[in-house]
Amino acid sequence: MTASQPLRIGVFGGSFDPPHLGHRALADTALRTLALDELRWLPAGRPWQKSDRVLTDATHRRAMVALAIDGEARFVLDDRELRRSGPSYTIDTVRELQAEQPGAALFLVIGQDQYARLHTWRAWRALLADVTLAVAAREGQAPVPDAEIAGTPHRLEVLPMPRIDVSATAIRHAAAAGTGLHALVAPAVAGYIAHHHLYRKDAAH
Ligand code: ATP
Repeated sequence: MTASQPLRIGVFGGSFDPPHLGHRALADTALRTLALDELRWLPAGRPWQKSDRVLTDATHRRAMVALAIDGEARFVLDDRELRRSGPSYTIDTVRELQAEQPGAALFLVIGQDQYARLHTWRAWRALLADVTLAVAAREGQAPVPDAEIAGTPHRLEVLPMPRIDVSATAIRHAAAAGTGLHALVAPAVAGYIAHHHLYRKDAAH
């Protein structure tokens, strides 16, 4: 990269409760496909759309993301949403990043499920104007948005990756049932979950 080219920054938010191999595959694919200079993992403080469940303590989720991204220097743990009071709105984070890195190209990295819900996000029109969406393709198929998003011009990069049938919900249930977590999370994350007795039956949702 020459000095005159804008920084290419991936913005990857989530509950990360816990971060798993689906997240890592999405992030790795984004890094490679979009030739990003860095990809920021942003654990959500209070995700406004997941209010039905109390998230695991921010300290644990921050620590697990640090373990999940280990070994890739372009991954950055950005804990600003954990430090912010009130709900975690992506538009606020994007505006802060724009102020900190003027001229940078921002890529909002999301899965198909979030793309389908994007029209419910706060200030989604402003968000679409500010970022390029980077959406995981499902089984090699083009990602599908809601009609409102489809009818609004936006920049879209499709991330080619196989479907990885892993969700944090399934992992919490597996941990509660005492099932092994390898092939679902990084070994260091599995060790952290075991060591801190996370997602045990009495605490599972
Ligand atoms: P939960 O099961 O608790 O709802 P989750 O596994 O969906 O959690 P999140 O932290 O909510 O994980 O996801 C963060 C981002 O990662 C979202 O954009 C989501 O679409 C994407 N994502 C989650 N799981 C996968 C997966 N297996 N493959 C690709 N993308 C994924």
